[in-house]
Amino acid sequence: MSQTRLPILVLKKDEDRRLRAGHLWVYSNEVDTAKTPLTGFDAGEPAVVQSASGKVLGTACVNPQSLICARLLSRRPGAIVNAAFLERRLRTALALREALFERPYYRLAFGDSDGLPGLVIDRYADVLVIQITTAGMERARDEIIDVIQRMFSPAGILLRNDSAVRELEGLPQESVVLGDVPDCIRLEEGGVHFEVPLGAGQKTGWFYDQRSNRLALHKYVPGLRVLDVFSYAGGFALQAMRAGAATATCIDSSAPSLASAAATAQANGLEVERIEGDAFDTLEALAAERRRFDAVVVDPPAFIKRRKDHPKGLAAYRRVNQLAMQLLDRDGLLMSCSCSHHLLPGELVDAVQRAARHLDRFAQLVAVGAQSPDHPVHPAIDETRYLRAFLFRVTDA
Ligand code: SAH
Repeated sequence: MSQTRLPILVLKKDEDRRLRAGHLWVYSNEVDTAKTPLTGFDAGEPAVVQSASGKVLGTACVNPQSLICARLLSRRPGAIVNAAFLERRLRTALALREALFERPYYRLAFGDSDGLPGLVIDRYADVLVIQITTAGMERARDEIIDVIQRMFSPAGILLRNDSAVRELEGLPQESVVLGDVPDCIRLEEGGVHFEVPLGAGQKTGWFYDQRSNRLALHKYVPGLRVLDVFSYAGGFALQAMRAGAATATCIDSSAPSLASAAATAQANGLEVERIEGDAFDTLEALAAERRRFDAVVVDPPAFIKRRKDHPKGLAAYRRVNQLAMQLLDRDGLLMSCSCSHHLLPGELVDAVQRAARHLDRFAQLVAVGAQSPDHPVHPAIDETRYLRAFLFRVTDA
């Protein structure tokens, strides 16, 4: 808490509804700019948000350059993003992860869902990877680093501030290494010791959000021929092999990702086939070769990043799922995933259902997955509920 008086940001009439319903964002057209011009704020400046009738809604960080011009940090009017505030929120976040996981490998902080808008932290034991995406958090960057040093005494911190969303906030792209950050991190998941690159400046590391879905697949795969499409470092494929799959094949367009899958396979005494190439072309080629699999995982990058990409993206989800289903042998499994929050869960189910009808097959929905619980959902913010994972069994029609 600070004794300094914060400036006030007044909303237009009725524009306090979303915040009252639990959401944390204010859009620039909702501000009463006659009373409180946005130009009067510095990027990332804290302010007290008030409704048109003068009711205090909480403390936010303002960014006049961004369409989302304020993000609520606390429902309390006097809160500011200082070290004590950050530590309190991080300790609350840490307690959940410590309850969930035996080892310190997880997403430690997931932005809005952990009451830390604009801050994501992935933990790889004593290496922490931090992403800051808002001007408000950028202002608190030194405090964030101090608190993390104090709480975890990490060997190294990687500030991976190279996400495109930073541009929306007028923030520069940068990647900063503090202390000792290795090129490769080791982690164990599902009985496999993975070695994944942690290249500064690259979007690399581990997709912790898929952990529960990778583990969920184990019981289905013994004896099966598994195809992992958009495999990255082979998370699904290699765990399937450990769980008793007969064979595993990875498809990815990134050679370094497949090299990482190969290195992990070798280190664990497992075998994995790797095909470098575009997933769509490769699936077509495999169909032309009459290759067949018993389980296919489809985990593409977000095909719908912005709402306007929806029609094109939906078409891509439909196509890739149909191509994948074509390769399935009798009663095969299709794990279909999407990390686009703009793609509604029902739309992905429908994409698979359409593919099944097109191929004259029946797709029964066996299990529904979601992002792992170290990516908690903020119920009022749909963007935080982004990962879909549906396990279908595809039988004769
Ligand atoms: N399934 C992975 C995560 C997948 S991330 C896991 O569980 O860890 C998405 C992957 O898709 C990335 O590795 C990226 O290199 C790959 N990719 C993106 N576009 C592609 C394309 N058109 N064809 C093949 N791979 C692609």
